Amino acid sequence: MSSDERYQALKGMQDILPPDIYIWQKIEAAAREIFPLFGFKEIRPPIVELTSVFTRSIGENTDIVEKEMYTFNDKAGRSISLRPEGTASVVRAYVENHLHNLPSPQKFFYSGPMFRYERPQSGRFRQFYQTGVELFGSSSPKTDAEVILMLGRFLEKIGLEGLSFQINSIGCEKCRPGYKESVTGFFSDRHDNLCPDCRRRLNLNPLRILDCKVGRCVEMRNGAPQIIDYLCEDCKTHFDKLKSMLSAVGVKYTVNPEMVRGLDYYTRTTFEVTSGTLGAQNAVAAGGRYDKLVKAFGGPETPAVGFAVGMERIVELLKRSGQPDLPVPDIFIAFIGDAAETQSMLIAERIRGAGYWAELGDSEASLKSHMRRADRLSAKYVFIIGDEEINSKTIKWKKLSDSEQGETPISGLTDFLLENITRH
Ligand SMILES: [Zn+2]
Ligand SMILES: [Zn+2]
Repeated sequence: MSSDERYQALKGMQDILPPDIYIWQKIEAAAREIFPLFGFKEIRPPIVELTSVFTRSIGENTDIVEKEMYTFNDKAGRSISLRPEGTASVVRAYVENHLHNLPSPQKFFYSGPMFRYERPQSGRFRQFYQTGVELFGSSSPKTDAEVILMLGRFLEKIGLEGLSFQINSIGCEKCRPGYKESVTGFFSDRHDNLCPDCRRRLNLNPLRILDCKVGRCVEMRNGAPQIIDYLCEDCKTHFDKLKSMLSAVGVKYTVNPEMVRGLDYYTRTTFEVTSGTLGAQNAVAAGGRYDKLVKAFGGPETPAVGFAVGMERIVELLKRSGQPDLPVPDIFIAFIGDAAETQSMLIAERIRGAGYWAELGDSEASLKSHMRRADRLSAKYVFIIGDEEINSKTIKWKKLSDSEQGETPISGLTDFLLENITRH
């Protein structure tokens, strides 16, 4: 690197700094609070896996695998990839650790960075974060309803409003082939108007045409066959039960028959949460059932359902409704003289021990500059300690918001904190 170059984060990757970080922490705290109420436990798979873990779960002929994965050879010549999504690793962990031997259902949540080499654009990053859940060992529509309900609770807890739930069923291995066939038929007649990618998809994975974002492909979808008309009896019953249960627990939803996942492992229920503010293209969360994936990883036949929440989008929505309050120190300790400096350290430690945030002035600074810094930090109280205060075993205090002043004995420090300051 030459001297006129500067170090920069990689394109599409961002530093998450205060005050934004407090929004992130709020979301993460909501996940840790809500998901366990439904019996979900945290799981932390590695960020890097053998590339085959992702090609197996996501499918060879998907944009993610074909174009967007960060894939490298490691020093042993193995092809490894940064995870582009969370489900594959969780399923791999479920099978590898024989978690299917534990009582069903097994429920997990995760949160962390994912990586896709996409063209960076507003709101999309190459390192992005997802919080998600996966539930293994139940095929009941009640489970789908519960997972959707939990997602709603989580988003509500974060304070998001104006969200809409969309659901659909994409059938099973019995009814999907018939649907695939009619989709292939429908688009074969319109082959020449498809984008080059979709022309290729027509033979490989025709359902992915329904996901294409290219304008002319979107237009051409008008009148395309809808999976809902092709569902077998079992899939239809499953979907009907899901709908009646969602209604029973008060989850408002709309059926979106166009919501068809291109990902190979999805079966039956799919769902998405969109926000009016971000537009329909930008789901804040998406999920569904994937009854075939565990078996594809060498495990026993295990029905499963899950979702993933796009953290950047939620952060974006929350930022629009206002910046978070920056935390401020409870106590700033200004001191005069060497003896008071040591005494201040001890007092700061007692304050922190009681669970409050204490900041200390700098040794070299004057009392005046201590006070200036306390002001800049918007500390709630300033404690002033000098020789006089050490001798009388008291602390002079000043409340910065209204300049009220007073004294308190050092022995009564904890009471002072409890009476005057709300703990974080
Ligand atoms: Zn079916
Ligand atoms: Zn297309």
